[in-house]
Amino acid sequence: MLSIVKLGHPALRARAEPVVATDESLARLAEDMLETMYAHDGCGLAANQVGVTRRIVVIDTREAKKRPSVLRIGGKTRPVHKHMPMILVNPEIESAGMCLAGSEACLSIPGIHGEVTRPAVVKARAHDLEGNVVEFEAEGLLARALQHEVDHLNGVLFIDRLDAAERQRVADELHQMAGGMLG
Ligand code: ZN
Repeated sequence: MLSIVKLGHPALRARAEPVVATDESLARLAEDMLETMYAHDGCGLAANQVGVTRRIVVIDTREAKKRPSVLRIGGKTRPVHKHMPMILVNPEIESAGMCLAGSEACLSIPGIHGEVTRPAVVKARAHDLEGNVVEFEAEGLLARALQHEVDHLNGVLFIDRLDAAERQRVADELHQMAGGMLG
């Protein structure tokens, strides 16, 4: 299992580098990232979060029964569970649809959650580990998770996307946590 880097680590603010999808070291990295994500009950993990600035994310939203995901391929709705876990190499997303507020948390910022407003639907294009192009449309938790993880690859954290009031509340919580650790 890999260790998850926390807020303050430079990898969380770095822009990850594109990778060659068939690079053999990626399969091992993806496997280790999945193990790490499941061990922490997460539904997504980006390589930056394990200190590796390469463009790969893993996602599995199956456990979040109260926050359903919708997956469409070629315009047709597909059973989400058949496509999980997702390992996405060099993912690119394009947002569509109206914006929705929803609760988010991050394994790199433990104990903090906040309401983030994001587009409800995203179109995604990525490679799998065999180098095949995968294209799909996501809605629900999957759309949110994708945007959260692709943000990580660009050095962006969900706390950057909070509105002013939420950001202040979170800043106070982070400050208290840091104080608690020092004390
Ligand atoms: Zn995160």
